[in-house]
Amino acid sequence: MKNAGWNRRDFIVKPILWAGAATVIGKSESLFADAATANAPLIQRTLGSTGIKLPIVSMGVMNADIPGLLRRAYELGIRHFDTAAGYQQGRNEEMVGNVIKEMGVRDRVVISTKQPSPNSPQNSSEARRLFIEGVESSLRRLQMDHVDILYHHAVDSVEDAQAEGPLDALQSLRKEGKTRFIGLSTHKTVDVVPEVIRLGIFDVALVMLNYTMAHDSEIVSTIERAAKAGIGIVAMKTQAGGRVKPDPNLPKELPPESQTALLKWVLNHEFVTTAIPGFSAYEHLEQDFSVARDLAYTDEEKKFLAEGFTAQAEFCQQCGECEKECPKKVDIPVLMRSHMYAVQYRNIDMARKTLGGATPGRGLDACAECGSCFVTCRRAVQIGRKIDDLKVLMLNRVAT
Ligand code: SF4
Ligand code: SF4
Repeated sequence: MKNAGWNRRDFIVKPILWAGAATVIGKSESLFADAATANAPLIQRTLGSTGIKLPIVSMGVMNADIPGLLRRAYELGIRHFDTAAGYQQGRNEEMVGNVIKEMGVRDRVVISTKQPSPNSPQNSSEARRLFIEGVESSLRRLQMDHVDILYHHAVDSVEDAQAEGPLDALQSLRKEGKTRFIGLSTHKTVDVVPEVIRLGIFDVALVMLNYTMAHDSEIVSTIERAAKAGIGIVAMKTQAGGRVKPDPNLPKELPPESQTALLKWVLNHEFVTTAIPGFSAYEHLEQDFSVARDLAYTDEEKKFLAEGFTAQAEFCQQCGECEKECPKKVDIPVLMRSHMYAVQYRNIDMARKTLGGATPGRGLDACAECGSCFVTCRRAVQIGRKIDDLKVLMLNRVAT
């Protein structure tokens, strides 16, 4: 396809809109490398002290909007489906609930959902009440009387991990049988996971882990310490942004071996019980699930990992170091996560919701009047370019 006549805004917006409109339907050929791999037993691991045994590849349902994809995932052997109250404004939970009910497999699957801290509650008892109401709504959408894992969602500070309202609510809901186990999801492993270990009430932690962190021993050792404390570890963001490159000026997708290589890297850490890659097409499901039978790298996968993916990925590890350089102390980690959702996941709804979670006064609006961003990232994230993309996508600014 010729790109003549496209301006920068076209490059950014058109592929994203097309992807949203034209979901790929139709089963692919099985992508298992060979017959021996296809027939190998599934690798299963136990989720910390919960005792739940799961195949190492699960399904992050966040970006999926095709019920058939969940059915196919179950047929292949996936037994853990991860959703959240906030995904697709509740429609994601509804889809999970409908499919599981239609298939009649509720007692054979592990369902997790997530509930964030309520916005600006007056006090901890109001926070507790609102949190419980949110979970009751999730159960209604899921058409279930309980979930298996209920996470406190996107807990990105120690204060939020300690917040009395959600902590009380989680423990009451577990006691009442509305959830079998409780967990916490975080993008700030090094800050928050030690507090999770110290609190000693959580059964599961949902944490970011991917190949761009291969040389960050603090992240890896913190997660390992949680696993040793009996906390079940579920890995997210394993694909470091997925198949689509983070720079929308480079429309070419990464090759299939990139995805299996990235997933194998995560799952070769035995302290990770299972990963929740967020495929939204049949061929991607089959590619990712092929890993569940064999974690040995192929030559292509080794080559991919050796060829400098980390810099290309521009994956924001959410460390927050860059915020100090910005005069307006913009919540750059939130902006970078929103960019990944908008450009790489092609999930504008999620990007908008994530942006809405920025600290008031420190969101994308604070960048609106800034001509060009001078903040730098030592992990090669092109912060300024991504903020410009977000201005075009989310504020409808014309690119310069
Ligand atoms: S952009 Fe870079 S410095 Fe800023 S939070 Fe992300 S990884 Fe950290
Ligand atoms: S564009 Fe300006 S306000 Fe926004 S992060 Fe960069 S320096 Fe800060």
